Amino acid sequence: MQRIIHRRLRQFFLATAVCLFMPVLAAQPLPVVASFSILADMVREVGGPHVEVTSLVGPNTDAHVFDPTPADAKRIASARLVFVNGLGFEGWLDRLVKASGYRGPIVMASKGVKTPLQLKDTHPHTGATKGHGAHHAHGVADPHAWQNLANAERYVETIRIALAAALPAHSAVFEQRAADYSKRIRALDQATKAQIAAVAVERRRVITSHDAFGYFAAAYGVTFYPLQGLATSNEPSAAEVVRIVDQIKKNKVSAIFTENISDPRVLERIAKDSGAKVGGRLYVDALTEPGTAADTYLKMFELNVATIVQGMLGNASQ
Ligand code: ZN
Repeated sequence: MQRIIHRRLRQFFLATAVCLFMPVLAAQPLPVVASFSILADMVREVGGPHVEVTSLVGPNTDAHVFDPTPADAKRIASARLVFVNGLGFEGWLDRLVKASGYRGPIVMASKGVKTPLQLKDTHPHTGATKGHGAHHAHGVADPHAWQNLANAERYVETIRIALAAALPAHSAVFEQRAADYSKRIRALDQATKAQIAAVAVERRRVITSHDAFGYFAAAYGVTFYPLQGLATSNEPSAAEVVRIVDQIKKNKVSAIFTENISDPRVLERIAKDSGAKVGGRLYVDALTEPGTAADTYLKMFELNVATIVQGMLGNASQ
């Protein structure tokens, strides 16, 4: 008898609970658009089940030369919030937004980040990217701010504020999720600094395809020699290839890295001509497909650090 009453009571409470939570379960998540996969991942982390995030530029795709389609205009038109990186990264965005008729908020996630130039003032030994600013494609800004984990924390805060404004009823959830995510970001930042500190300063030299690591260089004290400018649209000329081969030999850089968004062939040839080896692939402006090694921002960052450290350990001390 006792057991039956208990069961009845339990059924009653379960039924009540289902009724109470039905409206919440039935509430549709907020349709949100992010311009590229890394940012989409950050918005998902903060928004959790309350947002439905679509990335315009997909995995392994180059946002610098993205060519939006009418389907992208439709995605924006049906969104309630649009997140972009800013700093000249999405040159195609204004026209797309105009074409879509979208009139909602456009949130610039990089708001308030420090540029490498500002960081350099306090880190005088990391002048690695000096000079590249003179011939890049987007004016003075370097858009790749997510390559410094401290900046990602700023992104998370900007995302949290925007989501809380759009869905005030869930602001406590966003606050908790943003705090948890920021904690993981900070932990990886500490781990990154420790891993790089273990490599002698004279060995911290890396060759990459395009100039995506200015923020990384300034934050973590690594020298990058990019073949291209801040965008990916300019392939190096034959003369530039010769110059870079000479530079590799002179600087005794043993490993050069390809990217998931760029054609690896030029770098592979340079590796062959200079006697350096291809030290692996770096994930720069896009995540990889869901279910693969770099399908979240933090996994991408961690993987890049491991690859870069491994490559630098092969460099001779100058
Ligand atoms: Zn880039």
